[in-house]
Amino acid sequence: MTNNSKPAPDRYGLVGHPVAHSRSPLIHTVFARQTRQNLTYELLDAAPHAFETAVRGFGAAGGKGLNVTVPHKEAAFALCDETSAAAQKAGAVNTISIKGGRLRGDNTDGVGFIRDVTVNQHQRLGGARIIVLGAGGAARGIVGPLLAEQPAELTIANRTKERAEEIVAQFAGSLLGVCGFDELAALPPFDVLINATSAGLKGETPPFPGTLIAPESFCYDLVYGSGDTPFVTWAKAQGAARAVQGWGMLVEQAAESFAIWRGIRPDTKPLLKQSARWTSHRPQRAPGMMCEIRGAFG
Ligand code: NAP
Repeated sequence: MTNNSKPAPDRYGLVGHPVAHSRSPLIHTVFARQTRQNLTYELLDAAPHAFETAVRGFGAAGGKGLNVTVPHKEAAFALCDETSAAAQKAGAVNTISIKGGRLRGDNTDGVGFIRDVTVNQHQRLGGARIIVLGAGGAARGIVGPLLAEQPAELTIANRTKERAEEIVAQFAGSLLGVCGFDELAALPPFDVLINATSAGLKGETPPFPGTLIAPESFCYDLVYGSGDTPFVTWAKAQGAARAVQGWGMLVEQAAESFAIWRGIRPDTKPLLKQSARWTSHRPQRAPGMMCEIRGAFG
């Protein structure tokens, strides 16, 4: 490098399986432009057996940080040399910082989710009866922050009931209930329903009973996409007052990751404003970005 040449950009990325349709590169590129940070953001598709090699290889090649998505968040927690309090509570990591070959794990899913629901969507969680459908890494990330909002009740339901029981055991408290999907029909409607399953990535909604929803229910899908996700379509068909997909959470958790890596928190408002257009039914191009938003993505 000569004195006049620009330093090489710092490398960041997302590791998951699949990752091809992720909008994280778009979000971090917009943040980098806004905050004048010299960085790149790439996608690493790694099946579970190749996850550790992918992370260590990225670090050895000079990579500074990785976001982690389906299905690696719990494996990332196990891999990191040190972890934040939020990651420890969740038992899951979605943000890895790499320094001198050491991996530090954080979890920004919870704070991103709470910010989108309470600040962007103006939905009250305190005193509400809430159900989380799903018990994977994302559900683990949001349970602690949800409890901190002091709901009246928080139930975790999962196809594999044992995974929901593990989360409840970890957060032991009288507010928490647990059930399998086959027990949902016996429950009264909830004020807030959160879909934390990855079924929407395949264009599916698990067969949730419509009795979970009352006319005033607020439904939130962690999956995001262009237009309504399968869960949002289902919730609206059941008569939910409001049903929202997870684009705002993606933007907010990304802003938290960016702040951890770069020491500066980007303003999410411009991206959230754009999202109304980007997530409309008609596929569109984001300004200055060569990517089309289509379908449901995690
Ligand atoms: P994960 O750890 O792989 O967990 C997947 C969860 O989905 C498990 O509870 C699993 O149940 C359930 N599931 C998968 N397919 C199902 C089906 N066909 N029917 C019923 N349940 C099914 O994934 P994750 O990291 O928790 O992510 C979950 C979703 O949230 C993904 O779509 C991800 O993209 C999304 N997400 C979005 C954001 C955002 O910022 N918007 C952030 C984080 C995650 P079993 O335990 O029975 O297998």
